[in-house]
Amino acid sequence: MVEANEYMIPIKGLKEGWHEFEFILNKNSIDIFDHEMDVKLKLSIDKKSTFYHFYFDFNGKITVECDNCLNEYDEKINAHHEMIIKHSSEEGNFDEGEIEVKFVSLEATQLNVTSDIYEYLMVNIPMKKKCSNGNCDQEVLEILNKDNSKKGENVTDPRWDALKEIKEELNK
Ligand SMILES: [Zn+2]
Repeated sequence: MVEANEYMIPIKGLKEGWHEFEFILNKNSIDIFDHEMDVKLKLSIDKKSTFYHFYFDFNGKITVECDNCLNEYDEKINAHHEMIIKHSSEEGNFDEGEIEVKFVSLEATQLNVTSDIYEYLMVNIPMKKKCSNGNCDQEVLEILNKDNSKKGENVTDPRWDALKEIKEELNK
């Protein structure tokens, strides 16, 4: 397995104003359930006098497995997230309304955003994954459907068995 990189952003030395960082995220650079991906991340930071405003923009695709036919396909990722970073004597995460606010120590010179990137990517992968435009693998679907109907034939509901017994009892 390839070790995932750490995404460290130098914050202490940033002058007030806009700063831009670009990263290419792929299987080798960030380890997300071992899937292929090709995602460009543009991180823009607006440094204010008392805080940093982080803007994450993700663009690209992640290869995922269809829930329906188990084929792999590319899920498009187009996502935007924002985060406020403040230096404080108390560290922690707080949600102030819409935007997540993170407090880092007064001495912090850089910020590790690896887990943020990971989280943002994860929440942008849909819960229900399905090939687009009915591109599901028909052969696999047929096999899966056959398996399901077989199961239905062989398994009987135990409540029916009980009913059958009662009926037989009555007919005696
Ligand atoms: Zn499919």
